Amino acid sequence: MVFKLPQLNYSYDELEPIIDAQTMEIHHGKHHQGYVDKLNAAIDSVESDTGDSSLQQMSLEQLLTGLETDVPESIRTAVRNNGGGHANHTMFWEILTPGGSNEPIGKLAADIPAKFGSFADFKQKFNDLTVGQFGSGWGWLVVGKQGLEIITTANQDSPLLFGHKPVLGVDVWEHAYYLKYKNERGSYLANIWEVINWDKVAEIYESIAS
Ligand code: MN
Repeated sequence: MVFKLPQLNYSYDELEPIIDAQTMEIHHGKHHQGYVDKLNAAIDSVESDTGDSSLQQMSLEQLLTGLETDVPESIRTAVRNNGGGHANHTMFWEILTPGGSNEPIGKLAADIPAKFGSFADFKQKFNDLTVGQFGSGWGWLVVGKQGLEIITTANQDSPLLFGHKPVLGVDVWEHAYYLKYKNERGSYLANIWEVINWDKVAEIYESIAS
C-alpha cells in the first residue's frame, strides 16, 4: 500500500453552503479512496506478477509523467485513471478552504491579469471553458510552454500527462456537485471561487515558476 488517502485540513461541512457536507463525505471518503485503492492494487499487481518492486519507489508525479515510458502496459490504463484520480483530488482538497482567501497573491497576482486581462476575466474564461467540458473531467489553470494556460482534461487525466504543471484544478464530474446543483454545472463553477485557497494556489505556482 504505497499511496494513502490524504486527510483534509477542514471538516466535511466547512465548505457549506458552496459544497455540501454529504457531497464532501462521499467524494473524499468513497470516490477518492477508491482511486487510491485501485492505484495501489495496480502497482502491487506488478510486484506479484513479476517480482519487480521498482514502481513502489516512484512518486505519483513520476508515474504520471512517465506513464508511456516507465509504467508497464498492463497497468497503464489503471495508473492513468486511478493515479490521475489520486493526484487530481489531492490537489483539489488542498486548493479549497472554508470561506476562501480572496484573490491571488504574490507572483500569481501579477501573472493572471497579465495573461487573461483581469482576475474577473480569468474566472470567466476558466468557467466558460470548463462548463463546456463534455462529460466527466476537470478544469485547470496550468503552467505550459506558453506560461499560464486554462485547459480541461477528460475523465481523470492529469495535466502532467500532457506536459502541463497543474496550478489549480476544479473537478466537474457530476459526483462533485450533483447533490446540490443537480445539472447546473455553471452554478457550481460560479460559486466555487468562494472557497478557493489562493494562498495555497500561489504557493504551488511559485514552486513551479521558480
Ligand atoms: Mn471527483
